[in-house]
Formats: sequence, C-alpha cells, structure tokens
Amino acid sequence: MKIQFIGGARTVTGSCYVLDTGRHQILIDCGMFQGNKELDQWNEQDFPFDPVKIAAVVLTHAHIDHSGLIPKLCKQGFAGSIIATHSTAELCSIMLPDSGHIQEAEAEWYNRKRRRRGRPEIKPLYTEEDARRCLSHFKGIPYDEYTEVVPGITIRMRDAGHILGSAIVEMWVKESEESGTCKLVFSGDLGSKRQAIVKDPAFIDEADYVFIESTYGDRLHGERVDRSEILGGIVRTIQEQGGNIIIPSFSVGRTQEIIYELSELLHKGKIAPLPVFVDNPLAIEATRIFRRNQEVFDEESQQYLRQGVDPLSFPGLQFVESVEESQRLNRVVSGTIIISSSGMCEAGRIKHHLKHHLWRPKSHIVFVGYQAQGTLGRRIVDGAKRVRIFGEDIKVSAQIHNIEGFSAHADQAGLLEWLAGFVRQPKKVFIVHGEEDVSLHFAKIVNETLGLDAHVPYRFETVTYGEAIEVTAHVLAEKEQSELPSGLAHALENVKLASLEVQNILQSQALSSAQKQEVLERLAACVEALEQMAQDCEV
Ligand SMILES: [Zn+2]
Repeated sequence: MKIQFIGGARTVTGSCYVLDTGRHQILIDCGMFQGNKELDQWNEQDFPFDPVKIAAVVLTHAHIDHSGLIPKLCKQGFAGSIIATHSTAELCSIMLPDSGHIQEAEAEWYNRKRRRRGRPEIKPLYTEEDARRCLSHFKGIPYDEYTEVVPGITIRMRDAGHILGSAIVEMWVKESEESGTCKLVFSGDLGSKRQAIVKDPAFIDEADYVFIESTYGDRLHGERVDRSEILGGIVRTIQEQGGNIIIPSFSVGRTQEIIYELSELLHKGKIAPLPVFVDNPLAIEATRIFRRNQEVFDEESQQYLRQGVDPLSFPGLQFVESVEESQRLNRVVSGTIIISSSGMCEAGRIKHHLKHHLWRPKSHIVFVGYQAQGTLGRRIVDGAKRVRIFGEDIKVSAQIHNIEGFSAHADQAGLLEWLAGFVRQPKKVFIVHGEEDVSLHFAKIVNETLGLDAHVPYRFETVTYGEAIEVTAHVLAEKEQSELPSGLAHALENVKLASLEVQNILQSQALSSAQKQEVLERLAACVEALEQMAQDCEV
C-alpha cells in the first residue's frame, strides 16, 4: 500500500492524497491551491495520476482547498463516486458551481487584457457548468456509519467540528484477502471548541497512521474573548447613537455563526430587535442548507431547537438576493446590520457597502475573520487612513473593530489534545495542511510532548507501508541540516525534491522499465554524490 501527497504537504491549501492499495486507487480530498500566483499555477498542472484510474474520492469537507479540483478531476475522466457526509455534499452543490463561476470571471478578466495585446485567450480551470456536471458523482453518507468505498477500503466519518458536515475520516485498508487490516485516520480540518452550531471534534481511539492538519500548529488562540459581548456592545452603540454596522464575512460557516450570535443576543434580551440584512446570495443558500441539516448541530443549538427557537432565524433577519435590493441598502444610513462578502473585502457586494460607509464617522466596520496580507480588509484593520475602492479615494472615518475568537481551526493545544486522545498510539503521524515552518515546528512539539514519530511530507512524496514503514524520500534530519552550510543543505533538498517529481513523471509516461530504471539510477547517483559533498563539507 502506498500513499502519495499531492497537496497540503508543506502548504496549507490543495489538500489531496492518493492511496494505492495495488487493487484500487482512491483520493482523499481533491483541493485547490490558493493564496498566490505560484500556487494558482499548480492548479493548472496535470494531476500526477490518471483520473480515469481513480476509483473514488473521499472528501473531508466542502471548503474549496479540499474540494476545489473535483470538477477538473471529473472533466479529465474520473467516473467514480465522491463520498462525503450529506451536509458536505449539499454544501458542495453550491460552492463548486460558485468556484466555477469565479474561475470563469478570472479567465475573462485576463482575456480582456490579452485580447487588447493580441495574445491568445486562456481557458478557465473549469466552468460553472463543469462543476454542476460533477455533482451527480456525490454520494452522501451519515456520520458514524461504516461505508465500503471499494472492496478492501472501508471508512467511517466522524465529526471534525470545523464547518457543517466536516469529517475526520477513519479508514480501514485491507490490501488482499490474506493481508491484515491497516487503519489510517485523516483529521481533515479540525475545528476549535469555541465554535457555535457545529459540535466539538470527535476523539478517535486508535490508528496505525494519522494524517493531521497543522494550520495553527504554532499558535494558541489565547484567552477566550467574549465575542458575543463585544458584538452586543457595538449593536447597542448604533441603537443609541445611530449609524450602521457592516460585517465582511465568509459566506459559508462564518456568516451563519454571526446570525447565531445575533439570534442569541436577541433571545437573551441583550440587544433590541433591529433589521439585519444578509447581502450575499451564496450565504443565503448556505444558510438554507444549514437549516436543513439541524440534526448535526451541537447540543446548545439542539436545546434552542427543542425550545422552538430557530438559532439561524429571528424577526428582522432579511436575505437580500437581487442586485437592486442590495443597491437600495445604500440609502439606509442608520440602525441596521449588513453582513456581506467577500470576507477579506477583495470582491463582491461588500465593496459597495464599504464605499458607502467607510467615510461616515458613525459607521462601524466589524471584522470577524482572518485578513490576509495585501487585501483591502487587512489594510483597513491595520489602520489605513484612506483606501481606494472602485478607483475612488475614500477617507476612513468609520470605527473599525476586529473581533477575534471566531477561528474555525483548532490551535496548537487543540491539535495536541486531539492527538493525545488516541488510546492506542499511532506508529507514525504525518503533519499536513500547514505552512512549511509551522508544520515542522508542530512535528517537533508532537514528538517532544507526546513521544510520537512525526513526519512532515513533501509535495509528491510517496510513503509505502509494509512490515516497516518506508519513506521514499530520505530527507536529511533537521540536526544534520543545521550543521551544513545552508546553501548546500538547500541545494540537496532541492535535488531530492526534483528526484521525487521525476519519479512521478516517469510513472506517468510510457517508458520501458529498463529506461525508467536507468534514469532513476542516474538520479540516485547524483543525490549520493551531493550527499558525499555535504559530508566532506562538514569535515
Ligand atoms: Zn477547511
């Protein structure tokens, strides 16, 4: 049995692993790389496997960095099932077409420039239509039940508490009738315990090998801030002094959490009723999906439901679908809350609302999510005095708030607590889904505090499981690295990485096995020579 890391290895995004049992190949997640130009280009590269030969995809959750390349996979001949929880399948039915729409819009933006320069047009990665076509492959399953993916591979989805439908995947693999069973556990993205609506991540008893995310592997979320108190305070301020509240928010997950918080504040009488507009078509559809999947909500939400209170609805909550309705909101200058996207203010209707509110001293802009470097949201949070929106120079006079504590990811303590929950310790832990330095740091902590063998795989690295686990890329131990001149150590790492990539190219091309062997041997000799050089250097 082999597993290859295609993405989410020394990067946060692009989660995708290929499991090959010899009998079948399946994918765990098929995510899109996101974040910068170089990562965008990785999405355009050919898959290092044949999509036609993939028997199934097991999907941990609906976020695009886990699901976003599924339409591309289907376009290239994948014909199997995509197995996910019911809620994840439902969320994908709106998020993947939305992603296709974004791909088309981006391609069109580039093509307008290219046409002016007389250059050939580019094609979108996939279209909204491509994404809709792949939805028929989805097969929703419930949490906590055993499902056979293909003969020899059985899974059980456990709640990961990250977003609605998110799952930890327990996977039992039997390579042949005679062989024993190996248990793999993929954490997916693990939620933080502070989240509203979703449950806390489930603990797993045992595994042979664990694949754990490490987004916040180097960070603690800190003291729990009472975000509901802060939000309530801002609402009371506009109710007494006038002005609107503008909340830039991600469509799926965060928007519903804000609705939940407001509903709770109203229910407890901490704020007076007021009009709240959700001005974001995707968030509106997502909220409907949340409402249809109440059976997976956490205990607190269930209690509200038992009392006849819908935690995702309250008098005054209004959903704004059309552009005309959205534009009408510009005339309302006081006493309302507008929740809109995109969460980092880079696109979408939020930009119009910011344009109409940033210059007003009585407006309150409330950030409830991470703002990446270089985004409009980040500039505002960082205290910019003026910003440009739609080519217009706008003075920032509004009051800016940044409410932390809305993270959908476990912090370092949460990740360690989850790992410590294994009653039978895993043989090895693979640290994935994190920036390289964060994953390496977390691996060290896992090793030191839990005594577990932790490894941070490279992209395209293949791991083979047998009697003893064998990692094909024997990367230098960190200690050795630090003793080498950094340039040489880096060069060595690069050669090793390149050799892994060449191995993949060889696997996917029609070369004779003798030819392949020859190329591989040449590469191995090259690495060996470099290693010798490195050792000489040390002396
Ligand atoms: Zn996620």
